[in-house]
Amino acid sequence: MIAELISVGTELLMGNIVNTNVAYLSRKCASLGIQVYYQVTVGDNAKRLAQSITTALSRSDLVILTGGLGPTKDDLTKETTADVLKKKLICDPHTKERLFAYFEKREEKVIAENNWKQADIIEGCKVFDNENGTAPGLYVELEQKKVLLLPGPPNELIPMVETKVYPFLTSLTNQQLYSKMIKVCGIGESKAEMMIRDLIDHQTNPTIAPYAKTGEVHFRITAMAQTREEGESLIQPIEKELYQRFGENIFTDREEVQLEDCVINLLKEKGYTITTAESCTGGLLAARLLNVDGASSVFKEGHITYAEEAKKTYLNVSQDTLSKYSAVSAKTAEEMARGAARLAKADVSVSVTGLAGPKGDGINPVGTVFIGCCIHEKITVKKYIFEGNRAKVRESAVQNALDLLWRCICS
Ligand code: ATP
Ligand code: MG
Repeated sequence: MIAELISVGTELLMGNIVNTNVAYLSRKCASLGIQVYYQVTVGDNAKRLAQSITTALSRSDLVILTGGLGPTKDDLTKETTADVLKKKLICDPHTKERLFAYFEKREEKVIAENNWKQADIIEGCKVFDNENGTAPGLYVELEQKKVLLLPGPPNELIPMVETKVYPFLTSLTNQQLYSKMIKVCGIGESKAEMMIRDLIDHQTNPTIAPYAKTGEVHFRITAMAQTREEGESLIQPIEKELYQRFGENIFTDREEVQLEDCVINLLKEKGYTITTAESCTGGLLAARLLNVDGASSVFKEGHITYAEEAKKTYLNVSQDTLSKYSAVSAKTAEEMARGAARLAKADVSVSVTGLAGPKGDGINPVGTVFIGCCIHEKITVKKYIFEGNRAKVRESAVQNALDLLWRCICS
């Protein structure tokens, strides 16, 4: 089903209000597998609105209009739609009753004359009661075309869609979207995409959409199906295929789970404690680990040893190492990790030392970072060269430290 959304309101065209309805409705349509091909915004002008509706009917199966259903003179959506569809407006006793009840409850019990026009509906339409305002939503079919009229104020529109319109559309389309997220780390976006290019090229249902984040690629597998079981059975073979191709680089198949959650969970499972020794990331790594609810049961302490002096004093990095290899070196990362583990008496420690820029150290290029991971004296150190500005280098360093931690604890 191809849909077209028409937002009605001069204030939208003037930029006085942001068109949040169109984003909301587009997401809703997408989740039902209804394809939105066009989004049109038109002012409170009967002629141009009529043109928009006519055009929409010529190229779309479902036309959804929002706004202009109110009581005032510039609210023309219902009248104009009825005109275009060559249908009459008739008074709906049920809506009239509801209007009465609505105003009864309010302070000003007098109903202005123009409010009664909200009880008028397009002949033969289905009515969606408005629980938060006066204008009902209307749905009318003409030959193969479907037209839906919804109130403009989001506090009226959203509850109406959630409770009434969405279930109705579900019954029309008879299908829904089901999705699953597979999260991969340690593989760049373009490489990850190449690894599944054949799957993406041949996708119809389900589809796979990759999203790149720093150091991670997330794949959303989306299936269109009539039932959850059918959705899951469509998703499963693709999920299996992704597991085969990305194997141990997949850290979760749950949308809400972050890499730091996986690290903390693994530590808990193994009964390990952890400490951090950071230089260029200045506590960002510890902060990400401590974002996780319940991190207190495994996280002992964190160190920010920025100056060489601090690395020596607190973490026992030797002057010899600093002079011979410099502060940004594998040897320093190793000694930082070992020193922190001993100091905190922790099972696991992770160290980060690098050049976030913009100034270099005359030896390493900006972006050079060494990350060390020490588990019960067993040390792993990796060298990275990250791209980007200071903030980006620090973010990449934190991400890769979590990645290395996760892999070292897993193995
Ligand atoms: P009312 O009964 O309040 O007149 P209506 O259905 O006639 O409602 P409009 O008059 O077009 O709707 O808009 C009323 C208010 O709803 C706008 O002033 C604005 O605050 C909000 N609104 C309308 N359309 C949108 C939209 N597309 N996105 C976000 N807000 C909107
Ligand atoms: Mg209005």
